[in-house]
Amino acid sequence: MRRLVSPRLIACCFAVAAIGAAAVSTASAPATAARAAEARTVEFNNGRWFDGEGFRAGTWYSVDGVLTRQRPARIDRVVDLAGGYATPPLAEAHNHNLQNAWGVRNFRGRYIDGGVQYAAMLCGDGADRDKARAALGADAPLDVLYASACISSSDGHPLAMARRNPDGSLRPVAEVHDHDYLVMDSVEDIERKWPRVRAARPDLIKAILVHSERPERRNDTRYFGMNGLRAELLAPLVQRAHRDGLRVAAHVESAADFRIAVEAGVDAIAHLPGYQIWDGRSEADYRLDDADIALAARRKIPLIATAGAAQLVAGKDVAKLERVRALQRDNLRRLLAAGVPLAVGSDRFDATVRAEIDYLAALELMPPARLWRAAVQDTPALLFPQRRIGRIAKGFEANFLVLADDPLSAPAALDRIRMKVRRGALY
Ligand SMILES: [Zn+2]
Repeated sequence: MRRLVSPRLIACCFAVAAIGAAAVSTASAPATAARAAEARTVEFNNGRWFDGEGFRAGTWYSVDGVLTRQRPARIDRVVDLAGGYATPPLAEAHNHNLQNAWGVRNFRGRYIDGGVQYAAMLCGDGADRDKARAALGADAPLDVLYASACISSSDGHPLAMARRNPDGSLRPVAEVHDHDYLVMDSVEDIERKWPRVRAARPDLIKAILVHSERPERRNDTRYFGMNGLRAELLAPLVQRAHRDGLRVAAHVESAADFRIAVEAGVDAIAHLPGYQIWDGRSEADYRLDDADIALAARRKIPLIATAGAAQLVAGKDVAKLERVRALQRDNLRRLLAAGVPLAVGSDRFDATVRAEIDYLAALELMPPARLWRAAVQDTPALLFPQRRIGRIAKGFEANFLVLADDPLSAPAALDRIRMKVRRGALY
């Protein structure tokens, strides 16, 4: 039987045992659904528009939901941006809040009100995905990708999390295996289980590595349900996925996991290693090797940092968080210098990508415009590479937010969204 959906499932993101039964706040009331584009041509004047470096004054037009600078012969509607800052909308590259219908009902409003128009839910199954899509509605101003094939080992993450019922009891392992996530323990399992992958019709695949360089964890009951794929499975799994035209995002914990993922040719790294330092491990286990960083850069493998998840793991332990932040700074500085593409995702059940933008801004590792490009330009392009989104440019979808203040001065400008536009229509 399928279980009742609960916050337990929503938190199946980072492989940490200590989250506990955190209260999930209720989202604000669902925003008004996007109105159908009632006007074919819209003039947006008196705005300041993000051009990748800064904001430039000007007028843009939406013609059938597509941006142009060329004034159409007929204008159906004129919208005055009153000097506001127009930027492509936000994208959340790693989350779980909208992974099932319960999550959509509770968190949909938070995303839409917060100006998030694109998102990826990185672990789930096909049945939940179908219900989540239905709950979201076809005309929601929010496009969601689902990693409805989420692959790990029989003793792997997210088993421990998925087993926990809200009342503290545990679901049987057999109920979780090949339902909440797909189990692969051997290279042979890849072909054997592939029909299940296909049946889930994933938008992308999530593959989980958790300290794959430490096989001794498998015999340690403390780690049961918190491990991941054996390292040797990843490359053949990625090759199999690519033959089907499917992309693979890898959950990684350690520097060794990062190397294995990069060498396997994954399409995205879903975490910056070291958002938590496991018991008995130290910074050395999470400090990325320069050669691995260089290979990731050459292969243009994007990194979804989810760095702010460290705050949830550390809780009130300030010293612990400071240690992790120093490690993250060291890794991120070298990743950015090498040119590894940065994508933005929070992996937080209590927030959206906004929390990650704030966290990364506070690390002060890059100029504000560089972070903003990662958030509004590079992350949408990673999620939907086939679409023309993430830029205010001719031929791109007329999707943008208008902020009262300049977000390059402070991301807190996201607190004051004046206007949200989707394919030329206000919502
Ligand atoms: Zn996650």
